[in-house]
Amino acid sequence: MNKKEIPTKIYLREDEMPKNWYNMRADMKEKHPPFLHPGTLKPCTAEDLYPVFCKSLVEQELDQETTLIPIPEGILDFYKMYRPSPLVRAYCLEKALGTPAEIYYKFEGNNTSGSHKLNSAVPQVYYAKEEGLTSLTTETGAGQWGTALSMACAFYGINLTVYMVKVSSEQKPYRKAVMETYGAKVIPSPSDTTRVGKKILEANPTTGGSLGCAISEAIETAVTTDKCRYVLGSVLDHVILHQSIIGQECKIALDKYGVKPDIIIGCAGGGSNLAGLIAPFIGEKIKGKSNTRFIAVEPASCPSLTRGKYAYDFGDTGKMTPLVKMYTLGNGFMPSANHAGGLRYHGMSPILSKLYDDGYMEAKAYEQTAVFEAAVKFARTEGILPAPESSHAIKAAMDEALECKKTGEKKVILFGLSGTGYFDLSAYMAYNKKTMTDYIPTDADLEQGFASIPRIPGIND
Ligand SMILES: *Cc1c(COP(=O)(O)O)cnc(C)c1O
Repeated sequence: MNKKEIPTKIYLREDEMPKNWYNMRADMKEKHPPFLHPGTLKPCTAEDLYPVFCKSLVEQELDQETTLIPIPEGILDFYKMYRPSPLVRAYCLEKALGTPAEIYYKFEGNNTSGSHKLNSAVPQVYYAKEEGLTSLTTETGAGQWGTALSMACAFYGINLTVYMVKVSSEQKPYRKAVMETYGAKVIPSPSDTTRVGKKILEANPTTGGSLGCAISEAIETAVTTDKCRYVLGSVLDHVILHQSIIGQECKIALDKYGVKPDIIIGCAGGGSNLAGLIAPFIGEKIKGKSNTRFIAVEPASCPSLTRGKYAYDFGDTGKMTPLVKMYTLGNGFMPSANHAGGLRYHGMSPILSKLYDDGYMEAKAYEQTAVFEAAVKFARTEGILPAPESSHAIKAAMDEALECKKTGEKKVILFGLSGTGYFDLSAYMAYNKKTMTDYIPTDADLEQGFASIPRIPGIND
């Protein structure tokens, strides 16, 4: 097909949208190791998880066999209000880079929450409502997850308490305002509203908080409140299941034009947007039908895949979650205070961790000033102001495209543009004023984090 026939935006009609989520675990030759109950060190059962999570989500979390899971009508109705998301051929960026590569990006920032997180917020709240729950708790770092969840809670009529990492709530007052507009209660974390929050504050009164602390507070409130559960916006398998809508839409759109990506790139914090983007494509790779390269991009200041350990660790600083086998910097790891680019979580999705460990996926880390340089170049050529998180993927896509320029290869590069940067303007200001600095943790810094990984004979050696 003549390349010129590919439109700048490849749209799907409503009737072409996916009707199922794709559960890539069903196609994985080896599943990731199970969650372990921290007390018994036995695999977690559904009963262990019911006090914390909604029933339907626990079932999805533990279902490693069903390939396609139907999306209920009540969820599709909400999805249709902001999906399909645009798949864009980056003609202008290709030209600016002078690359023979074809570059495509899937833009998930076209909804008020400004990111892909709404794709999982909607089903999580829908199922909570169906089960007769009246309230939910969660944590939010940069604020996108809390915003997405507030939108979904307002739509389905559920009360929401959001523990927001303290530094973020100070840097991003407008995020808080959006969440409150949708009816959520926002509490900076660590706070004195929970036992674990008080304990963390006692040990470290001036801490700016971390996702790990905020998770501990949200879980404590969920398990001590009637008809309340905790919801999480990344990392877990059911979140990744919901995010498979991204990759499936991409695949349907690209198949229409016979385009097959050679490289698929996404930023990775907890791993949900990347896993969702690659889902159907990794399925093909596992089945030996393609040889696509997959690249996870992370900040050099929080390098869980590139420098972390593949070990059983807690998902939170308060050590309340089950033990999860994942690439981790240790639940006690705190990224340096100058880090502005998001993606600060210490661990990584167990699915992506397993794919990476099995050699299906590569990983790369970039320093934040290089990431912002790519973000600004992208904004000036493609028009969209990208989220700092997403800009990690932009940077890697540009580097691959420039590599093609050297070799003359016409590779097809697809990357995930997971969100917009409207709420990250303080980070852009720092970059523009040239006050942004880079910090790469030393091996000694990382050792401090690793020391918080539990030592369990026979499990973590
Ligand atoms: C939350 C977020 C991320 C990181 O989370 P993942 O689970 O790794 O996708 C990336 N980009 C944006 C815009 C986000 O809001």
